[in-house]
Amino acid sequence: RITAEATRGPDVWSTFNPLVFPECVNLGQGFMNWSPPSFVRGALEQASKERVDVHHYSHPKGRPALRQALAKQVGESYRKPTNDESQDDFDVSSGAVPQQRADKGVGLDVETEIQVTAGANGAIYCAMTAFLEPGDEVIFLSPHFDQYECEVTFMGGKPIYVPLLPPKETKGSRARDWKVDWDALEKAFQRPKCKAIIFNTPHNPLGKVFSLEELQRLAVLCIKYDQLVLADEVYDVLTFDDQKHIRIASLQGMWNRTITVGSGGKTFAATGWRIGWAVGPAHLIKPVLVVHTRITFCTNSLAAEACAVGLNQAGKEGFYALQVREYEARRKVLCDALDALGLPYTLPEGAYFIMVDASALQVPKDYPFPSDLQPHYRLGYFVAKEAQVVSIPATAFVSKEHVPIFEKWLRLSFCKDVGVGGEGEVEKGGQL
Ligand code: GLN
Repeated sequence: RITAEATRGPDVWSTFNPLVFPECVNLGQGFMNWSPPSFVRGALEQASKERVDVHHYSHPKGRPALRQALAKQVGESYRKPTNDESQDDFDVSSGAVPQQRADKGVGLDVETEIQVTAGANGAIYCAMTAFLEPGDEVIFLSPHFDQYECEVTFMGGKPIYVPLLPPKETKGSRARDWKVDWDALEKAFQRPKCKAIIFNTPHNPLGKVFSLEELQRLAVLCIKYDQLVLADEVYDVLTFDDQKHIRIASLQGMWNRTITVGSGGKTFAATGWRIGWAVGPAHLIKPVLVVHTRITFCTNSLAAEACAVGLNQAGKEGFYALQVREYEARRKVLCDALDALGLPYTLPEGAYFIMVDASALQVPKDYPFPSDLQPHYRLGYFVAKEAQVVSIPATAFVSKEHVPIFEKWLRLSFCKDVGVGGEGEVEKGGQL
């Protein structure tokens, strides 16, 4: 039933990862070329040696240690309202704007409000399986992370793409200059079959960190049209230039309709550990647990224990601030290189991707492309072969209709060590 056509052809990862060879510069798939920080890796090694239970099944909800660490370390940032559900009601009919709740929420319930999943992908997939009926529509602000498409269409759902409009001039632009098409968004919410939005901040691939004002406008629409929100916040600890990540669930009227997804892989440079989580009100998390139990039953116990230690230690180690500084340095190296080449880009303010307008690069018409390569991947293929730089074509992150607009754009990752930290510093005893 799931055909290549249903997935719009071979996925971009399977197409571009094989183009990576030892001497090339791999700025493609977003994973790091360094190990997790020593305090997290050490916890994994120690637990592996000293404990038996970490090699076996966990409770399907996730290791208690990880759920407790999440509740303790990031619980307050959700600013959850009191357990009285009606406290989260917010009336937008009079034009009132939902505010961010007061600093301290009442704390997350480790039994009912946190679900550990097989990566963030696992959380999104389980949530879509739990809530979508065939024919239901789900909005993406597009460009969007490509996995969302199949997570919706495999369940019989239908993506509705609402554009994030590019800045008039790419050169000198910042990710914040990509703007939501608010009229298109409201029209999408008005569609009778529209049920949910998958909303991503900090944003992959744009690096946009949505402002409070943008979140408030979005929240008003979600409340007005009674929509479910899947908030993909996997890059929440990666914001640059003093930008602040704000959780949409922390706005009035949003907790009860939002599932927030996070990632141990992104947080601790451990993308292969496949540890993610979903946080939200009990009535939304319970169905995610039901699905998760039937798909993977539980996640990797050992990695989850190490992530728990990571969350509990990270603040004390000054890890998050150091990690941000190192990413800012990597971003600068890449931007300087692009400046030297004269290729315009949008400066990312979060996550670890940069969108580059590569229109200046001319692809020869008679270039020997493989016959099965999708035509809109040609520029990326040509750059991989000729410049030995692997990227991900931006067309992987847009709808079929928007492919022509993005054919000259490439996404480059800067979660790659360039001698400004990474594994080297671990060995020197630093945090990274
Ligand atoms: N999030 C990563 C990226 O965008 C990894 C992709 C994936 O999960 N296949 O590169």
